[in-house]
Amino acid sequence: MSTPLLQRLARIAPYFRASRIGFVVAFGAAIVAAATEPLLPALLKKLLDEGFGAQRSFPLWAVPVFIVGLYVVRGVAHFLSAYALAWAANRGVLTLREGMFARLLDAAPALFTERSASSLTNTLVYEVQTGAQQLANALMMVVRDSLTSLFLFGYLLWLNWKLTLFIVLLAPAVAFVMRAVSRRLDRLTRAWQTATDELAYVVEENTLAWRIVRLHGAAPTQRARFGAQSNRLRQLMVKTAAAGAISSPITQLIAALALSAVVVMALWQGATGGQVTVGGFAAFITAMLMLVAPLKHLSDAAAPLLRGVRALERGIELIENTPEERGGTHAPAGGRGRGAIELRGVSLAYRGEETAPALDGVNLAVAAGETVALVGPSGAGKSSLVNLLPRFFEPTAGELRLDGVPLTDWRLDALRRQFALVSQDVVLFNDSVAANVALGDTIDKDRVRAALASAHLLDFVMTLPQGIDSTIGHNGSELSGGQRQRLAIARAIYKDAPVLILDEATSALDSESERAVQDALERLMEGRTTLVIAHRLSTIEHADRVVAMDGGRVVEQGTHAALLAAGGLYARLHAMQFRT
Ligand code: ADP
Repeated sequence: MSTPLLQRLARIAPYFRASRIGFVVAFGAAIVAAATEPLLPALLKKLLDEGFGAQRSFPLWAVPVFIVGLYVVRGVAHFLSAYALAWAANRGVLTLREGMFARLLDAAPALFTERSASSLTNTLVYEVQTGAQQLANALMMVVRDSLTSLFLFGYLLWLNWKLTLFIVLLAPAVAFVMRAVSRRLDRLTRAWQTATDELAYVVEENTLAWRIVRLHGAAPTQRARFGAQSNRLRQLMVKTAAAGAISSPITQLIAALALSAVVVMALWQGATGGQVTVGGFAAFITAMLMLVAPLKHLSDAAAPLLRGVRALERGIELIENTPEERGGTHAPAGGRGRGAIELRGVSLAYRGEETAPALDGVNLAVAAGETVALVGPSGAGKSSLVNLLPRFFEPTAGELRLDGVPLTDWRLDALRRQFALVSQDVVLFNDSVAANVALGDTIDKDRVRAALASAHLLDFVMTLPQGIDSTIGHNGSELSGGQRQRLAIARAIYKDAPVLILDEATSALDSESERAVQDALERLMEGRTTLVIAHRLSTIEHADRVVAMDGGRVVEQGTHAALLAAGGLYARLHAMQFRT
């Protein structure tokens, strides 16, 4: 074992600290099992040297008692070590997994642009599990087999230390082979992880975009993409297997060298009147042959050991290297703020797009209770502006304030409590209607019903088999577009936040549900600060103020009528969109 591996294991160890008793039991049992190994050749020696002579030095019944007893002890020890190991490994997996999920929940948003959903799923769900299992099994194998080797080796030394020295001379050769193999295995494992992520990503895309793939007849290209990735994975797996499999024949070859040298030496010692008896020689050779199997296991353990370490490292890196979101300490008394928003010279440049900032020195003040419609061509920066408010992104320059307090001074949970969001893509959880409406809050059924009623959705929900307790399925796929949107509105009503952010849907709702949605929205907007990315003329006309944006800047603002009269950007947009 080279030091880096030990350091890598030391980094993993803290996550398994809570279950260390399991490892102690497992390794203790492994020691017992290993200690029984030399007893067989010892028995053989006694049988050969003393069993066939004129008078046996032991009763006949002792032989089966000894043999069976030996296997009972070994069996119990093996079971105990396997059980304790599984227990300990899975406790560690639990700790690690919970740690990773907790980090997923409080990670700075950059994580979600850096890693795909499928890659994160892979790490959290599969990688740590198989990694811990592989590592625990490999470690067990290493402990058990190095102990077995050690005991057998000790017995050999005790039998005939001169012969044993021959074997020691071969150790550096074995160590060299192991080092070379593990380096290669580690490189392959990293490549394999990347390739697995990429394969999973192809699956993710094709699962989410199955409609588009079919509509465009893109199946053959997608199949080719998938095929290329799978093939890359296959190549890496074969290379890994080859690297893993090369070490054991080499180790065995070295063992064969040792064996022949030992036999020659023993015969020579015997011929020159040495102290080698037939029993002693048989025991020596048996113990030596028994040594080959654990040595082979040790070299076989390298591949799963390294793969397990690498898998757990990725989980640990997710926990330790992902920065968490940082909030301040401010929280309004009673939890609910007023909802006055202010942007001062706010700029935002996404990473890699510093030359064309999405927002460029925006100044904007929205009074509590005011409704502001953001309009502008697509790419103007409307969504970017709105995304800064709950701190989903950080401005590259300037400052945002809510109720006069800089956003960075707000406690994150308190800050986000101030916003309700109704956007075009409604995210629903595979849970009951009530849980979806109350999302994150305690479920008060009367309030849920009231919110659904205000959103014009209660009548529909009551037709479901279990009313508000009905499950709405995988991302609400059983609901129509209008129903999903009204559910999002009910969620916003339930949250009762002082600031409402509307990313207004342009999706084709039939006019009846459009009217229902519109009506629900108007009720929701009453008494709240509302920022709406507006497409509907009615919303814009009813807004207190229209803010027209272009190229990340506010180009003009005023009432609908004033801007129309001014004949600027808004008037042009208006003329294009609402020609009737
Ligand atoms: P709008 O909502 O007005 O259509 P956006 O705020 O979505 O405008 O986009 C403003 C600019 O920022 C666009 O040029 C867009 O390409 C870019 N942009 C938006 N979101 C991201 C993102 N997550 N990463 C990089 N660039 C982005």
